[in-house]
Amino acid sequence: MSRQIIVAENAGFCFGVKRAVDMTVEYNKKKESRVYTLGPLIHNDDVVKSLEEECIFRIDNIEDIAKLKPGDTIVIRSHGTTPDIIERLKQTGAKLMDATCPYVSSIQRKARKYYGEGYQIVIVGDPNHPEVVGINGWCNNTALVTRDGSELKELPQKVCVLSQTTEKQSYYEKTLEAVSRLAEDVLAFNTICSATGERQGSADEVSKRVDLMIVIGGKQSSNTRKLYEICSANCKNTLLVENVNELPEWIVTNPDFKVIGVTAGASTPDWVIAEVINKLKSGNAE
Ligand code: SF4
Repeated sequence: MSRQIIVAENAGFCFGVKRAVDMTVEYNKKKESRVYTLGPLIHNDDVVKSLEEECIFRIDNIEDIAKLKPGDTIVIRSHGTTPDIIERLKQTGAKLMDATCPYVSSIQRKARKYYGEGYQIVIVGDPNHPEVVGINGWCNNTALVTRDGSELKELPQKVCVLSQTTEKQSYYEKTLEAVSRLAEDVLAFNTICSATGERQGSADEVSKRVDLMIVIGGKQSSNTRKLYEICSANCKNTLLVENVNELPEWIVTNPDFKVIGVTAGASTPDWVIAEVINKLKSGNAE
């Protein structure tokens, strides 16, 4: 029997990441200036390496902003950044290319607006994630960042709840319950991106009916790790790999794995997914 490979719908690049990569690569082709990205453009080492081959380099340390020269171009990635950093970038004289995902920009605008109207901003998410750090900057770094609201004990009366775009729905709902108990005037915006929900939903569905589930994505990518968690709960043989080189040979050739599911995080390009699928097909089950 030949091996069946089921690729989850909505696997791989989301709209915002594809937009940021395309904007940067297209601009770089004009060779008008040296192009840098503020942090890795996306959480995928293969993509970052291929960008470096095209002379698009990343600036990881914020202090290195000062080394930018007038005429250079600096790209703000899809996660966005804080107004303070935008100001510092402008002061270098470098050209700014804002590739912030429009969905993330919309959350930043909400944070700024409701902070200005006296609301305490609560963000459901990871306090260290660059998207959350960026959103927090738009409310003067005053947001309370929570994973699921369980540690919130006291709140002002006016609260506005926002969410990291890649957050789990259940964490958002738990936070909203907690906030509704503690505050009187609650504004809540479920800003979880539909791309995330759709990707998680199809990974959930596929991982329930396979012998082996492969999740492809960067180890630093939070949306990839969430896919891994969802798939592991359904399929005990779930493996997270960054690219085809991390696929163990014993997995590829194991005849017990007759139906294999594949999904990929938002930062995984199509060519990386295709290489993994081809390798899995090469080890067809008997
Ligand atoms: S997951 Fe959604 S919000 Fe985040 S970059 Fe992708 S499209 Fe934009």
